[in-house]
Amino acid sequence: MKSTQKTKAIVLRSLDYGESDRILTFLTDEFGKLKGIAKGARRSKRRFANALEPFSLTTLLFSRRGGGGLAFIEGSDVIRHFAGIREDLDRTLVAACVAELAEHFSVEGKKNLPLFDLLTDFLDLIESGRMTEAAERFFELRLLKAAGFEPVLDRCVTCGAPLEGIESPRFDCREGGIRCARCAVNSPDFIPVSAGTLRTLLMGRDIDFERMPRVGLSGPMAREGREILGCFIRHLTGRELKSVSVLSEIRKRYTP
Ligand SMILES: [Zn+2]
Repeated sequence: MKSTQKTKAIVLRSLDYGESDRILTFLTDEFGKLKGIAKGARRSKRRFANALEPFSLTTLLFSRRGGGGLAFIEGSDVIRHFAGIREDLDRTLVAACVAELAEHFSVEGKKNLPLFDLLTDFLDLIESGRMTEAAERFFELRLLKAAGFEPVLDRCVTCGAPLEGIESPRFDCREGGIRCARCAVNSPDFIPVSAGTLRTLLMGRDIDFERMPRVGLSGPMAREGREILGCFIRHLTGRELKSVSVLSEIRKRYTP
């Protein structure tokens, strides 16, 4: 017997499958990450409208037949379409990074409401055109925290010395934390990072969402933030995420 369930869901990934089906990955508020198949999705515009486009926030109806595997998507209604993201290349690329990170750091069947709310808030921010590069780092920090992988930036991860007392902090990607000069001795591969960058990242992690776009990371600080969080995320995921490398390649090419 099948029973239909209902949840709010954000489309993270959408892949055409066969003649008319789609395979989808969602982040839901009730069931964590959810993978499903929408039979006839590309024919039945009425049943799915544009509710299955990447980044759309929808009310999803789905069922499970047999054990495990893909859920069957029975229908979906758009709550937010985020059209303002799709009509702008940079916004689309940033949203793709945010979605891929959320996909990687969410778990199938495991509810994670903070992560769901975080993604919704950031899609909203991207759509509003107020997203900044610093806010991309703040998203990463908040995502890592929601997923249980928060890096230690306010003290030496080894001896616990507070950031204020550390002369030249270095970031250890494998440990996911900074180390003081004494604890980083003989480890040349640790990344030097200024206390100013760390303080700004910590502020951006904790600040009210509304005020976040006003906190900036410029020049060398932006580069340091990119380097340490990029390195840590690559260490956790085991590879460079595709959307992240596309975004950085395009920015390198088109930023004056
Ligand atoms: Zn130390």
